[in-house]
Amino acid sequence: AVAALARDVVKIYGRGDTAVRALDGATLSIPAGRFTAVMGPSGSGKSTLMHALAGLDTVNEGQVLIGDTDLAGLSERQRTLLRREHVGFVFQSFNLVPTLTAAENIELPLTLAGRRADRAWIDELVEMLGLADRLLHRPAELSGGQQQRVAVARALAARPRIVFADEPTGNLDSRAGEALLGFLRHAAHELGQTIVMVTHDATAAAYADQVVFLADGRVVGELPAPTVPEIL
Ligand code: ADP
Ligand code: ADP
Repeated sequence: AVAALARDVVKIYGRGDTAVRALDGATLSIPAGRFTAVMGPSGSGKSTLMHALAGLDTVNEGQVLIGDTDLAGLSERQRTLLRREHVGFVFQSFNLVPTLTAAENIELPLTLAGRRADRAWIDELVEMLGLADRLLHRPAELSGGQQQRVAVARALAARPRIVFADEPTGNLDSRAGEALLGFLRHAAHELGQTIVMVTHDATAAAYADQVVFLADGRVVGELPAPTVPEIL
């Protein structure tokens, strides 16, 4: 099954002389229940493609599907509701709410969707991400790595169909990074969660099931990834 699909997507920022063609015919299919890594040089369109696939932004041309819903037919409000229901996003800069505790940040997607938290699932996430003794802290009282893990827990809290993570190991030391990558693999392989991760780091990408390469706003290649724990 396909969890999300971009077909021949063009995304242009700005207009006239200063317009930037951030995506220039990008086509990518995200298989459900797998861990996909997206790599490519800075400026190649990785973040723009994630934002398009997540329904955070509209595109100028081409087609974007989340599940079997074509985003082109939706109003902004409908897109927001679809995103709340089916998409988790780990932002590069975390985007945690500074006035809320870690626990409140993690449950925010459920609060916004008016849904009751699945206690056992939230507890499992908190446990697996090593956040149990940090739940009452506000973001400013957490390390960068802890904030990043809270952002990951928040993205998974509502059990969305698909989770996007933009450089989720960017602020972590290698040990914390490996723990987080191991967790993302577990989420895909044991829990059936679809994960899409942008990374600059080939070691991080090797935790994924497949690696997609972008250049100049297009997908230019795709490889199955070797699994790091076995080869190291
Ligand atoms: P990557 O994530 O691979 O670094 P991005 O998707 O962030 O690439 O950016 C692709 C191109 O689009 C770059 O040239 C970038 O400067 C430009 N870009 C990204 N976001 C915006 C924006 N909001 N406004 C204008 N240009 C943007
Ligand atoms: P990345 O590391 O993924 O390339 P950036 O640092 O390029 O991320 O972008 C961070 C944020 O700034 C994104 O929300 C992106 O849309 C925005 N952005 C990137 N390039 C530009 C630009 N040239 N003009 C305006 N906004 C931009």
